[in-house]
Amino acid sequence: MKKIATLTCLHSNKVCARVSCLSAFQNRTAFFKDYPEDTVLAAMMTCNGCRSITETEPQDDKGIQEKIDRLVHEGIQTVHVGVCRLNKNGNECPRITAICQMLEAREIEVIRGTHAERH
Ligand code: SF4
Repeated sequence: MKKIATLTCLHSNKVCARVSCLSAFQNRTAFFKDYPEDTVLAAMMTCNGCRSITETEPQDDKGIQEKIDRLVHEGIQTVHVGVCRLNKNGNECPRITAICQMLEAREIEVIRGTHAERH
């Protein structure tokens, strides 16, 4: 059994209930299409927020470190990153990029995409 998780933008919480990500996983569509039935979406984490909320970069953020420790402890093998990682110009938010690098450093695979992408 494989355990996976999602990473999304904290700011997107204001308007996003994660419905499309969860639906894509439950229906095994888009970036989840190759997962077998017994795959578990076991965690959903966000970034630590924009600079306007916190000056602390993800690498120095205790909460982000704690979340990643928990993913490792839970045996999460892959993290899918939502389309909310992209700004309106289609560029990835540097804080999301930093968290992806932190995940990969802990040997967690990062896949950019959950449901169909708008950009
Ligand atoms: S740092 Fe980036 S991913 Fe995080 S809330 Fe801000 S815009 Fe969203």
